[in-house]
Amino acid sequence: MFNSLSDRLTATFKNLRGKGRLSEADIDGTAREIRRALLDADVAVPVVRQFIAAVKERALGEDLSKALNPAQQVVKIVNEELVNILGGKTRNLEFAKTPPTVIMLAGLQGAGKTTLAGKLSKWLKDQGHTPLLVACDLQRPNAVTQLQVNGQRAGVPVFAPHPGVQSEHEEATGDPVKVALDGVAEAKQKLHDVVIIDTAGRLGVDEVLMTQARDIRNAVQADEVLFVIDAMIGQDAVTTAQAFNEGVNFTGVVLTKLDGDARGGAALSVASVTGKPVMFSSTGEGLKDFEVFHPDRMASRILDMGDVLTLIEQAERSWDKDEAARMAKKFADQEDFTFDDFLAQMQQIRKMGSMKKLLMMMPGAANMRQQLEEFDDRQIDRIEAMVHSMTPHERVAPKIINGSRRARIARGAGVHVSEVNGLLERFTQAQKMMKKMAAGGGMPGMPGMPG
Ligand code: GDP
Repeated sequence: MFNSLSDRLTATFKNLRGKGRLSEADIDGTAREIRRALLDADVAVPVVRQFIAAVKERALGEDLSKALNPAQQVVKIVNEELVNILGGKTRNLEFAKTPPTVIMLAGLQGAGKTTLAGKLSKWLKDQGHTPLLVACDLQRPNAVTQLQVNGQRAGVPVFAPHPGVQSEHEEATGDPVKVALDGVAEAKQKLHDVVIIDTAGRLGVDEVLMTQARDIRNAVQADEVLFVIDAMIGQDAVTTAQAFNEGVNFTGVVLTKLDGDARGGAALSVASVTGKPVMFSSTGEGLKDFEVFHPDRMASRILDMGDVLTLIEQAERSWDKDEAARMAKKFADQEDFTFDDFLAQMQQIRKMGSMKKLLMMMPGAANMRQQLEEFDDRQIDRIEAMVHSMTPHERVAPKIINGSRRARIARGAGVHVSEVNGLLERFTQAQKMMKKMAAGGGMPGMPGMPG
């Protein structure tokens, strides 16, 4: 989403590199380039103005001539100011002292509320909460069914006493306020500690929509009202956010569709314009494409400093501890690494989500964006298909895989023999390296380490 902004900013900083000291003219020039990059990325004008003023003031104020590396100093200032406009500190969900905590979702139709409801409920469930989804969008055709499907995928129950509208021509009849109230009562009775209320949106902001959202909010005394906004809608994001802020006085923002290739700057302006923090972001249609929004990490990503913390968290979230222990034992016992182990590891990695998205979080990813864009997650499918085409014996003893076996595996997986050859070669290398590491008790070739 923020690729071109990221490219422009990193290019600006590159120009500063190697300068012994920065003159006022250097700072002016840099500020001008940053300003243009932000405006081209659709960041709202007042936000840009405030941003540039802050950067300039600090850059001129801090004694850059004495700084060890003035370019790095400027990056540091831009980074901190970027964190500021994104809302500063990470804002976590606030849970009610007496459960259930009521979370209500509001936003335009198509913003991604129903999808988000599923993701949020799964995320809460994975942390030991017992959420209940409540279907109050009785207006958009099939919204109730869609929530039920999402709930089923997430393994979270859905309270949906009213089927809602089933087709374009039908008039909405149900009372969403009553459903919301009944949903909270149901949660109390069945001891759910969190209630997530999905509400109706419309194509544009209007008074009826706002009144309904406000009525629900007041009726259930929502602890959190999350305003869900599609980051792809560009400049409209800011005006829509302002309207909802006045209409329902939301407590936090969720940015969706950050996986799109729109310019995204408007989404970056929402926190600054409304004074409400971005709390979550969504980057795809799958249940896993969901993250807590950390302003500092997002700033790092935009400035191409990588987001290693999120990577580690995703790994931890999806890592199977038993499988990790099994591998560690195997390693310690110096047993041979087999294709079955390889497959098991691939599946662990897959659980973390799209490989491409993961790689994009590495520091310096902007420099390899072209190659990363070409990375196809289906390459992993092909590797798995090849391993699946091997017999159980071949998987544990790959040495026996001769020419005719290779041809058979290639045919079975629908790939060229050269791909099977490549895989076997890489596998043998990995196997050797693991042996060496296990035997030497350390990384091969590391100074001071045996092996
Ligand atoms: P609602 O009207 O606000 O409930 O919106 P929906 O949850 O039905 O979402 C509208 C469409 O956007 C659906 O097709 C979703 O699959 C899709 N969608 C939701 N979130 C994302 C996201 O983060 N990325 C992408 N690419 N699509 C999304």
